[in-house]
Amino acid sequence: MKIETKCVHAGGYSDPLTGGINTPIFTSTVYDYIDRDATVYPRYFNTPNQEAVAQKLSALEGGESAILFSSGMAAISTVMLSFLKAGDHAVIQDELYGGTHAFITSHFEDLGIAYSLAALKAEKIAEALTPKTRVIYIETPTNPLLNIIDIQEVSGIAKNAGAITVIDNTFASPINQTPITLGIDIVTHSGTKYLGGHSDLSCGAVITSAQLAERIRKTALSLGGNMNAQTCYLLERSLMTLALRVERQTQNAGVIADHLENNPNISRVNYPGLKNHPGHDIAKKQMTGFGAMLSFEIDPGLMNAKTFMKRLKLIKPGVSLGGVETSICDPATTSHAKVSPEVRKRIGISDNLMRLSVGIEHPDDLIGDIEQALLI
Ligand SMILES: *Cc1c(COP(=O)(O)O)cnc(C)c1O
Repeated sequence: MKIETKCVHAGGYSDPLTGGINTPIFTSTVYDYIDRDATVYPRYFNTPNQEAVAQKLSALEGGESAILFSSGMAAISTVMLSFLKAGDHAVIQDELYGGTHAFITSHFEDLGIAYSLAALKAEKIAEALTPKTRVIYIETPTNPLLNIIDIQEVSGIAKNAGAITVIDNTFASPINQTPITLGIDIVTHSGTKYLGGHSDLSCGAVITSAQLAERIRKTALSLGGNMNAQTCYLLERSLMTLALRVERQTQNAGVIADHLENNPNISRVNYPGLKNHPGHDIAKKQMTGFGAMLSFEIDPGLMNAKTFMKRLKLIKPGVSLGGVETSICDPATTSHAKVSPEVRKRIGISDNLMRLSVGIEHPDDLIGDIEQALLI
């Protein structure tokens, strides 16, 4: 099956009682266990609603097994704690989602887990390896500069070193990138973003091999962080249109990026689909589409970020992403507020950098909104 077909038909739980074609919402937390192989319980991550949507996600990412969590951070922290113990070492890419960065820097030391932050290059990851490295953790494209790391190179390095590779695939979604097919062991998601896609649910997901999933399930069972039946159902419904949404969002982002590049009031556009983007060639090799996230810099002589956002009529200021509606934020005061101004400047996050999550509206309306806001 192609990915669009998997979105609709993979997984699911047909209802033998009524012949209904959608997965029913099973609200039970207690299940009869006599004459059954496994005890079913929400925190065992094996209820019918959890299974129905996990199978769909697993098919979309090309894995063998998936586990659903109540948030992206629950998924990410559970994966880390499943494979890292005191005395172990992890290599972590330094450009990372803020919440993941905070989890590592505020808890790993107390847990006795050593880590190295490596710049966004496969050879920097290789240089950071030690004999105790168990996990390599990456994210591509990155937030908010949309930088790209070569996934296949990283998985090759990890295989030689006997380390497990984990990638946060939130920004690309399986529609634009399937890291397991490029040799990655474990994919994590904040399903709150593209998988949910309507800015109305919080969830996380892990997709991997059956063997690694078993180990993650064991840790998850102790930490909790499971998702309820109603949210599973909403997510399953959302995934039916994942390809449709993300394909259109990606197409719109390409049109907007091209347009912004030619706007004299915009000094820089970061989008992996642009030929001048430093990660363009790698992105072309490893992504099926360049994604629907982009960032751009407004000429600081014209207006500041807050003024620009207030002048927008259609595009919504908001810190999350991946919804059907286009949203915008300024990373300097949101996702990267805790990073010092000097470091922000060095890595290219200026006060006037805007991050755009492109939705499914008509691109002409979105371009029109940006242009009217810049017109003074
Ligand atoms: C939002 C986000 C997360 C965290 O997910 P939550 O659902 O908010 O816990 C992790 N990684 C990336 C790339 C994100 O954008």
